[in-house]
Amino acid sequence: MKHVGIIGAGIIGACIARELALAGCRVSVFEAHEPASGASSRSMGWINASFVTRVDYYQMRIAAIQAHRRIDEQFNGALETQWTGSLNWEARDDKLDELVDELGQFGHPVKLVARDELRVLEPELADLPPKALLMEGEGTVEAAHVTQVMLRAAQDAGAVVLAGVPVSAIERGEKAGHVVISPAGRIHVDDVVIAAGVMTGELAEKCGQTLPMKNEPGVLIETNALPFRLQHTIWSPDVHFKQLPDGRAICGNLFSGALGGDAVEDVALRMLERMKQRLPNAAAGLKIEKVRHGVRPMPVDSYPAIGRLDNGAYVCVMHSGVTLGPLVGELVASEIATGADIDMLVPFRPGRFNE
Ligand SMILES: Cc1cc2nc3c(=O)[nH]c(=O)nc-3n(C[C@H](O)[C@H](O)[C@H](O)COP(=O)(O)OP(=O)(O)OC[C@H]3O[C@@H](n4cnc5c(N)ncnc54)[C@H](O)[C@@H]3O)c2cc1C
Repeated sequence: MKHVGIIGAGIIGACIARELALAGCRVSVFEAHEPASGASSRSMGWINASFVTRVDYYQMRIAAIQAHRRIDEQFNGALETQWTGSLNWEARDDKLDELVDELGQFGHPVKLVARDELRVLEPELADLPPKALLMEGEGTVEAAHVTQVMLRAAQDAGAVVLAGVPVSAIERGEKAGHVVISPAGRIHVDDVVIAAGVMTGELAEKCGQTLPMKNEPGVLIETNALPFRLQHTIWSPDVHFKQLPDGRAICGNLFSGALGGDAVEDVALRMLERMKQRLPNAAAGLKIEKVRHGVRPMPVDSYPAIGRLDNGAYVCVMHSGVTLGPLVGELVASEIATGADIDMLVPFRPGRFNE
C-alpha cells in the first residue's frame, strides 16, 4: 500500500487526504498546529468562477463548483453549503455592462438586474444601485467546517492525523520516496504532498526549489445573528457579506478585507459601520462577535501551483482554495495514486517559476 505524507491540514490537505485514503493509500497528515487553524478558518468561503480572465483557470473553477455540488450531495447537506448565488455591484455602474460581456465570453451564467428587481430579491438591503450582477450558480461554505468533515472522512477511511507536529524538512529517501522530518521522527513515505498554505514556499525552498509567493493578509468580521434572512451573498463597492445558516453574518471589504496599512481593529469597525448602512433594519443590535485576521496563500502570479518540484515532492497551494479544494483533492489524489498527468493541472505546475 502506497504511504503518502501530507503536510498541512487546511482545506487543501484535508480534501487530498480524503481522496487518497478512499483510493486505498496509507495517509499520514502532519499538521503543525490544529487542523483548519490557518487560512481555512479565516476565509469568506465564497465558491465562484467569477471575474476570471484566463480560460483554463475559468474552466478549473467551473469544474470546482461542480465538485462542491458533488460533495454537498455525498455528505447529504452536512457540509452546510449554501447555494444562494450572489448580487454584485462592486465595480462602478458604468462598468457592469462591460463585465457582463467579459464574463459572458466564457459562457458564464450572469445577468444584470435593475433596482426594482433587486428590491424584490433582497428587501432588507438599503441604498440599492441602479443595477447589479446576479450570479446564480455561486455558493458559500465555512471552510473550517468543510476541512473538519473531510478530515474525519479521511480518518474513517484509515488516514492518520498528527496534530501539533511541524515538519522541519523533507529529504529524499535513500532508494525512493521521501523522509518527512518532524518531532514525530524521520518518517519514510512513498510520496509527499506539501499543502502547507502560506508556508508552502518555505518548504519548497527547503526542497531546493523557489516557489515565489505573495501571501496577502485579510480581515473579516463575524457578527451576531441578523433579525432576518438574506437570500444572496452581497458584494457592494465598500463592503460584502454573507449570512450563515444560524443567522450570523461574515463581512469583508475590498478584496476580503485588505488592510492597506490600517490597524485590524479600525478595518473591522469600518466594515461594521458599512454593513449597518446597507442593512438599516439590523443596525441597532449589530455587533462584532469575532474578527478573522488571516493570510491568503498566493503564488506570485496569483494562480495555483500544483504538481511536482524537481526533487519529486508534490506541492499544492493557491488562493481561492475554498472554491478549488474539493476539485483539487480529487485531481491531485488521482495523479498521485495513478501517476497520470491530468490535463487540467498541467498549466499550473510549479515548474513555471523555473523558466
Ligand atoms: C480573508 C480571506 C478571505 C478569503 N476568501 C476566500 C473566498 O471567498 N473563496 C475562496 O475560495 N478562498 C478564499 N480565501 C482563500 C482560502 O481561504 C485559502 O486559499 C485556503 O483556505 C487555503 O487552504 P490551505 O489548506 O492551502 O491552507 P491553510 O488553511 O492555511 O492550511 C495550511 C496548514 O498547513 C499547516 N502547516 C504550515 N506549515 C507546516 C509545517 N511545516 N508542518 C506541518 N504543518 C504545517 C498550517 O498550520 C495550516 O493548518 C480567503 C482567505 C482569506 C485570508
